[in-house]
Amino acid sequence: MKPQYRLTTTAMIGVCAALVSGTGIAAGEPVAGTGDYDALDYAVSLEYRSGTREMAGTTTLKARAAEPLSGFALDFAGGKVGEVTVDGRPAGFETRGEKLLVFPHRLAGGTEFTVTVDYLVTRTNGPDGHGPWREIEDGFALGPQMYETMHHVFPCKNDIADKATYTFTITAPARLTGIATGDLIATTPLGGDRTARTYRMAYPMPVDDGQIAVGPYSWITRGGPDGVTIRDVVPTAQADRLRETLARTDDQLRWLTAKLGPYPFGTYGIFAPLGTISPFESQTMSTIQAATLSAGPADYVRVHELTHQWFGASVTQKTLADNWIAEGHAHFYGAWYDAGQSRPGSEDAFADSMRMFYGIDQKTRDREGPPAAPKPISGQTQRAGGALALYALRQTVGPRMFEEIERAVAARFKGGLASTADYIKTAREVAGRDVTALLTDWLYAKKTPPMPGHPDWKPDGAAS
Ligand SMILES: [Zn+2]
Repeated sequence: MKPQYRLTTTAMIGVCAALVSGTGIAAGEPVAGTGDYDALDYAVSLEYRSGTREMAGTTTLKARAAEPLSGFALDFAGGKVGEVTVDGRPAGFETRGEKLLVFPHRLAGGTEFTVTVDYLVTRTNGPDGHGPWREIEDGFALGPQMYETMHHVFPCKNDIADKATYTFTITAPARLTGIATGDLIATTPLGGDRTARTYRMAYPMPVDDGQIAVGPYSWITRGGPDGVTIRDVVPTAQADRLRETLARTDDQLRWLTAKLGPYPFGTYGIFAPLGTISPFESQTMSTIQAATLSAGPADYVRVHELTHQWFGASVTQKTLADNWIAEGHAHFYGAWYDAGQSRPGSEDAFADSMRMFYGIDQKTRDREGPPAAPKPISGQTQRAGGALALYALRQTVGPRMFEEIERAVAARFKGGLASTADYIKTAREVAGRDVTALLTDWLYAKKTPPMPGHPDWKPDGAAS
C-alpha cells in the first residue's frame, strides 16, 4: 500500500517555478560596440501614484569598467528613457530591444563610473501575463519571475552572477507604505501628503532577488533567534490575525541554522502581499500570501523559501545550470522540515518523502533533463532531483559529515557564487573521500541512479 504523504508533487509546482523556466533572458547577450562592466551599487527610486500605471524612476548604477569602454549595455524594457548621464555628464543612448545602449566619454579599463538613467516605467505585463507586475486595488508588488524580468522594473545588468548592493527609495501616498528589500533607513514626509521610504540592502544581492511593493501594509518588527531581526510586512488589516502564524518563523530559523550554520543576513521576514502571487524568495524577505501561510503545505513553502537565504541569496548559483544548488537545497530542507512536523523526530518520514520523489525522478529526467543539465523549461528536476542528489550524498557520507559539507559550502561561498563543480569539490575536500562520481551521476546522468542504502527504491511502475 502506498503511504500517505503530506506533500504532493503538485503542491510544489508553484514554488519558485519562474526562476528556472530559462526563457527570454536578455542578460549576457553581447551587443556589438559595447563592453563589459561589474555592477557595484544601485540606487533605485520609484514614484507610485494612485490611478496610473506609470511611475517615474531614477536608477543610478555605480560600476567598474572591465575593459576600456566607449559603450556599454544595460537591460531595460517596459519604459521610456528620458535622460542618461555618466559621471554627471549627458551621455548618448539608444534603446534596442530590451537593451539600453549607453555611449559615454571613453572610460579606461578598471575605472569606476556612475551612470544615471531617468525614465518612466509602465506597470504592464505581456499578453500571457508574463512580467513582474502584480497589481492590487491601490498598489502593486513584484511577482516571481524576476530573473527574467527585473529589467522591466529598472535599468540594470540583468545577470544573476553580478551581485551588487542596493538602495531603494519608494515614494507613495502617505496612507500607503512603500516596501523594498533591505533595512528601512529613512522615512521622509514630502509635500502633497506623500512619503518616501528608503531601504538599504548592504549585502551583495543577485539582481533578481529584490522585492518592491506599495500598498496598505504594516511592518511588524521583533527580535528573533541568534540576534536576527525579524520584520514581517503584512496587510495592516490582517496584522493581528497573522501574528501567531508568523511567529513560527523562529522555530524554522533555529532548525535551519542548526543544519546550515549562521543565518547569512541581519534580518529576515515574510511579506504577505494582497492579491495573488506564487511564493518566492527575495534576499531577507520571502513573499508568501497570507492564505498560503495558513494552508496545508505552509511549512514546506516557508522552509523552502527560508533555505533560499543560504542557497540562492547568500550562495548564489553561478549559472542557470547550477540552479539545482538553490532549488535542490530549498526542496531538501523544506521537505525534511515538513516531514518532521508530521512525524516529529522520525527519519522515516523524511525518507518516505524522498522515496516519493525517487519514484518519479526518471520521468522528471526524461521530461526536464538531469538536475545540473536541465532543459529550458524545467523546475522539478532542479528541485526534487537536486534534493535527491543531496540525499544520496547524505546516505553515502552519513548525516554528520553531510552537515559538515553543507556548512562548509554555506561558509566558503557566503555572499558570492557557487557552481556545481564548486559544490562537488567542496564535498570531496570536506568528506576526505571522492564523491565526484556519485554526485556527477546524480546531477548529470540521464538515468536515475540507485539510492545508496535503499536498494528497494525503484522508479514508479518498475518491477521490484
Ligand atoms: Zn525555490
